[in-house]
Amino acid sequence: MLIQNKEDVKKLFKDRIETMYGITFENASPVESYTALAGVVRDYIYRNWAKTNRSYDETSQKQAYYFSIEFLSGKQLCTNLLNLGLRDTFKEGLEELGVDLAEVERVEHDLGLGNGGLGRLGSCFLESLASQQFPAHGCTIRYKYGLFKQKIIDNQQVEILDDWLEYGNTWEVRRPNRAVEVKFYGYVDIDDIGSTTIFKHRNYQPVMAVPHDMPVVGYGNDTVNTLRLFSAEPKREIDYTLLSGEEMQKAINYERSVESITEILYPDDSQKEGKELRLKQQYFLVSAGIQTIVNRYKRKGGDLSELGKKVAIHINDTHPALSIPEMMRVLMDEDNFGWDEAWSITREVMSYTNHTILPEAFEKWDIESFRWLLPRIYMIVEEIDRRHKEELRCKYGQDSWKVWEMAIIRDNSINMAHMAIVGSHSVNGVAKVHTEILKNSVMKNFYEYYPDKFNNKTNGITHRSWLLKSNSPLSKAVTETIGDSWIKDPMQLEELVKFKGDSSFKEKVRAAKRENKERLAKIILENNGISVDIDSIFDVQVKRIHEYKRQTLNIFHILDLYYRLKDNPNMDMVPRTFIFGGKAAPGYYMAKRIINLMMSVAEMINNDKSIGGKIKVVGLENYRVSLAERIFPATDISEQISTASKEASGTGNMKFMLNGALTVGTLDGANIEIREAVGDENFFKFGLTVDEVMKYYESGGYAAFDVYNKDFRIKRVMNSLVDNSIPGQGESYKRIYETILYNNDQYFVLKDFDSYIKAQDRAEKAYRDQDRWTEMSIVNTAKSGIFSSDRTVREYADEIWGIKASVLK
Ligand SMILES: *Cc1c(COP(=O)(O)O)cnc(C)c1O
Repeated sequence: MLIQNKEDVKKLFKDRIETMYGITFENASPVESYTALAGVVRDYIYRNWAKTNRSYDETSQKQAYYFSIEFLSGKQLCTNLLNLGLRDTFKEGLEELGVDLAEVERVEHDLGLGNGGLGRLGSCFLESLASQQFPAHGCTIRYKYGLFKQKIIDNQQVEILDDWLEYGNTWEVRRPNRAVEVKFYGYVDIDDIGSTTIFKHRNYQPVMAVPHDMPVVGYGNDTVNTLRLFSAEPKREIDYTLLSGEEMQKAINYERSVESITEILYPDDSQKEGKELRLKQQYFLVSAGIQTIVNRYKRKGGDLSELGKKVAIHINDTHPALSIPEMMRVLMDEDNFGWDEAWSITREVMSYTNHTILPEAFEKWDIESFRWLLPRIYMIVEEIDRRHKEELRCKYGQDSWKVWEMAIIRDNSINMAHMAIVGSHSVNGVAKVHTEILKNSVMKNFYEYYPDKFNNKTNGITHRSWLLKSNSPLSKAVTETIGDSWIKDPMQLEELVKFKGDSSFKEKVRAAKRENKERLAKIILENNGISVDIDSIFDVQVKRIHEYKRQTLNIFHILDLYYRLKDNPNMDMVPRTFIFGGKAAPGYYMAKRIINLMMSVAEMINNDKSIGGKIKVVGLENYRVSLAERIFPATDISEQISTASKEASGTGNMKFMLNGALTVGTLDGANIEIREAVGDENFFKFGLTVDEVMKYYESGGYAAFDVYNKDFRIKRVMNSLVDNSIPGQGESYKRIYETILYNNDQYFVLKDFDSYIKAQDRAEKAYRDQDRWTEMSIVNTAKSGIFSSDRTVREYADEIWGIKASVLK
């Protein structure tokens, strides 16, 4: 039934609790209330889902599939209600039953099937695609456990299992009848029959990939696209309860090894994980994804030679790059295409996004273990590489070093980025500067060889999730001022510039920030037992903990400020609350040491009565999407301080900007474009540029010790890491000290220190003029429209995938 008013909501909710649990709604626990309510919303969504799918079938238009080993969607109930335009109706209806919708929403587990920015980008894209009615879907792994939950105990990170399926997943539908078989291990038989060669994969281990589909709801339209999650299940051909002894044990081992494929998400961000299980996950995803796409295509009567006109597959980072040989396998081995035609279809279908230039993140697979796990795919990769090298020799000559440099297989390993470039028709970076670095340095050879493949698609975020949903005070103020057209067309936010001098709007913006800061302060008090001053500057760095993101530089600023204040307790300063959040990969030793230092510094400063509470330091546990939604709206200063060239784009920077925070940032990634958009006067820039950093890496000329010796502030901060002035794990801080000084400060923390402090001083000075600050904040929100993922996915749709927005029939 159509849900039109709060009476409908009341009736459906009460009915659902009764029919689902056999109790009346007054007796329902929060989990029961959530599950029942989500069920009501799901039924509503599923009707539109059917309608959307029917429409896509009838028009047989081209569809895009975004393959990503991670998605980070957060909680679904609130987003879905909001996009259906039903949140207020539900809120009011439930209120009349004495049920608080926000309480019910809180029960839901975050969908945490990703590490950080890369996974979150996928989720923002899916929201923007559905909201603009693009026929495009996500494809990923249904990990039994999402990214670990972080606890801080004794100032150290402890990892806890994220059992997100604890109460089941109301939104998904399991589709066993669409399951496909993925084959591992075994060997390949080659038969020549007449002039054709037949490849038969034998003695393999079969794994069933079972789709679980989740709806992706568009805003204010009837479009519902699909996020398809694959779960690995054993193929049960025999009743193994009838087995005994060794046979039984073998069957049990098989089940165990299959289930382990989709059990855990690797918790590494911007680092490669060279384990066999990870390779298994990657092939499992792409083989399952491609087979279900091809099966559907054939079911609808499609002709595979036309596949490139009807299907686009996107490879999000190299993790799904095996899509390329897998597509070749399906076309050749299962549908008898010859190499050349299969190759041209594959290239037409595939496109690839590069996400990082960090060398430690470039994926390479050892050929021995690769061939053992994926014998047929290895043969295809070998042939792709052979033909690729042949082409290069034709162009550059037999002995050109380029053949070696651009090889897919070299030094006994497979270079996944090279394969992704060779097998795709489009390669994109994720911010202007990042794409330039790819073209001019990291992938220079490939850019020269395939200049037309390379393009830029600056990342974006969905402003519906990151403003409309998460910051209702500011959203209301914006809508009261310029109307609500910005929700569907974020470029309209620019209208706000006209109101930056309007005192009534400015007052609303200030009041909104205050309300958001109060709400965050409450969370801080509850979680950390620290009371923070609402009038202090909320200075925030939330993101994964990584040396290149330079949480250490932030900590060094805090320590320097603290020591200055200790020297001069009457120092004139605006009180500051430094807020950190972020997880460290469990195996990343330095990142864990950084958390330890951060939390110990927090403890030391928060407990020092002599500074009169002018500085507070807060480390918020378990940074994730639902917590992020509370943090961005409450922020005054956004810390975007990566070493120039290291952060491909960043998206946290955009969420802060949208919520009216001002950036203290390096000229790295999308920071550069943010500064261009808001103007230098509304951005606090500092630090080495990309060119300067590259030059130091190439020609040397930087000595961390010199900077240390010349700047007494740096010396004081650094020395305090090793002279026991910070309580706790001295060994931790010593390792940070040594890594900076003895490895010559690979991330230029000391080099950028002075410039960083100056930017912080400028920010403080600006903050003292609240009126002016509010204007700057308004400009940041107003100019954030181009960083909406609505714009980003439109560019992908037009320029890479060739799909069109479609009004449903
Ligand atoms: C946006 C977001 C990120 C990415 O943040 P960066 O600052 O771009 O690294 C990571 N985690 C979560 C939960 C996010 O919402």
